[in-house]
Amino acid sequence: MNLIDVKDLSNWLDNLLKISMFEDYSPNGLQVEGKAKIARIITGVSASEALLKCAIKKCADAILVHHGWFWKNENPCIKGIKKTRLNLVLKHDINIFAYHLPLDAHPLLGNNAQLANILDITPFLDEKNKPITYGYKSLIWTGSLQKSKTLQELGNDIEKRLNRSPLIIGKPEKIIQSIAWCTGAAQNMFQDAINKNFDAFLTGEISEHNVHLARETNTGFISAGHHATERFGIQALGTKIAQEFGIEVEFIDIDNPV
Ligand SMILES: [Zn+2]
Repeated sequence: MNLIDVKDLSNWLDNLLKISMFEDYSPNGLQVEGKAKIARIITGVSASEALLKCAIKKCADAILVHHGWFWKNENPCIKGIKKTRLNLVLKHDINIFAYHLPLDAHPLLGNNAQLANILDITPFLDEKNKPITYGYKSLIWTGSLQKSKTLQELGNDIEKRLNRSPLIIGKPEKIIQSIAWCTGAAQNMFQDAINKNFDAFLTGEISEHNVHLARETNTGFISAGHHATERFGIQALGTKIAQEFGIEVEFIDIDNPV
């Protein structure tokens, strides 16, 4: 059984995901320090109590997630669910690693890159072969469907591939070729996609006003699920860790309908 030093893994991950380039809403990297050597990692979308309990059952030494803890604007006191979660982790000496925006943005392993693979979207690349992104923190990716289809057909495809029925606003017969997307809760970036004349915008969540914006601008809006669109970056990262260090990495999907 291979073992890796927490510090080595932590440095490797921080470098790979270039965390110093991001100003984020929560700390990226090792959020809670546990045992010094790691043989088994559990990955998941969010460090919820359910994920912690699964990881404990599986004797994990570390948990690696997209949505970690200690978000800005939340009460920092360790009470309620925070106490319960932290207690579980400290009692079992488990390391918690979390990568938020750096994992959305990574050009190969990131949520946006991985979602494009799964949905057969070809990202637009610049002359240096980097994805063309824009909008808030350059989080919006842009590209083109490998085969143009109607909004309805695209919705059907997404349902099959993400295993979740998306909420689609727009004319079902509208032909979609160009698309902008950002996984998670990027519904406030919809106007950016409209400004650049994309046929459709895809994100995880939706707000009430997005519906009017979609209808009045004839731009397709696809709400494919926050959790559903953010399951792939962390899995790609887990596979990369397993290949690099020869340790055991397992993804656990704690179902979340949002
Ligand atoms: Zn998210």
